[in-house]
Amino acid sequence: MELRPLGNTGLKVSAVGFGASPLGSHYTPVAQDDAIAAVREAFRHGVNFFDTSPYYGGTVSEKVLGKALKALQVPRSDYIVATKCGRYEDGFDFSAERVRKSIDESLENLQLDYVDILHCHDIEFWSLDQIVSETIPTLQKLKEEGKIRFIGITGLPFNVFTYVLDRVPPRTIDVILSYCHYSINDSTLLDMLPYFKSKGVGVITASPLSMGLFTEQGPPEWHPASPEIKSACKFAVAHCKSKGKKITKLALQYSLANKAISSVLVGMGSVSEVEENVTAFTELEGLGMDQETLSEVEAILEPIKNLTWPSGVDHK
Ligand code: NAD
Repeated sequence: MELRPLGNTGLKVSAVGFGASPLGSHYTPVAQDDAIAAVREAFRHGVNFFDTSPYYGGTVSEKVLGKALKALQVPRSDYIVATKCGRYEDGFDFSAERVRKSIDESLENLQLDYVDILHCHDIEFWSLDQIVSETIPTLQKLKEEGKIRFIGITGLPFNVFTYVLDRVPPRTIDVILSYCHYSINDSTLLDMLPYFKSKGVGVITASPLSMGLFTEQGPPEWHPASPEIKSACKFAVAHCKSKGKKITKLALQYSLANKAISSVLVGMGSVSEVEENVTAFTELEGLGMDQETLSEVEAILEPIKNLTWPSGVDHK
């Protein structure tokens, strides 16, 4: 598995990153043994980057990931763990007090002494001024205390990233995590890459399958896309299936092909998903993409290209 540098952090993260929200049964129920086997299989294939949050399954994802990483019995420096703060099953709270409590809870859930990255989770739902003046300075203290190594922010709309990055001193934020903006239906992250590079932050993209839109089982009920987006994606899935092709492979390869993006976090909850997704990467390196099918899928998705959905409070 290719390891790519993550901004200025000095970390090298696997191109395919392990999205651990399925471990908290965020999509469908995932048995703990299957989850642990999936993590082991991913690590065996060179996946070294694992992303979770106390929000996923109300801490279940963190706890199961912690168990699985411990079971690997490898040195702590062999894997990179990101978790998040500020978003919880019962709502949002980015106050200094909650964030301090949050990292201690996360370290306990994960059975770790430190996490490599602590992200502020979905900042569009909170006061960005408080994120700048209170949350980020708290994370800087946690860095000094050795509980976290690097600071990240996550969110759906891009304006929340620029708001924060334009107001904090350079090198304060190490990483950004964008999701659902670098897949076949929506590739708007591309336009933001020069800006993020100018700010010296590493870029992670998540949800290459657009949170289940590009799977044969379809998206979960809570998926926020409009019926128009859902139906175009469903049509694209059916088109690939009729040709005997897997749209998951095509969509994942589309995200992985851009090496300016350090890691593509794909949610996985079983050994077979890990195997398929690692193979998608290997085939991309060896054979390249199936350009013919990609063009057909792009044509199907053209009417909804780059359409997204509202998220959070209005920060205009
Ligand atoms: P995704 O696009 O990666 O889709 C995940 C879904 O696809 C799951 O149901 C999974 O079981 C299924 N899947 C994966 N591989 C498959 C395969 N080969 N065949 C069939 N189905 C397959 O969406 P995601 O899980 O939401 O995103 C990936 C990760 O990124 C998350 O787990 C999380 O760690 C992170 N993330 C973070 C944020 C944020 O911070 N705001 C938002 C979204 C995602």
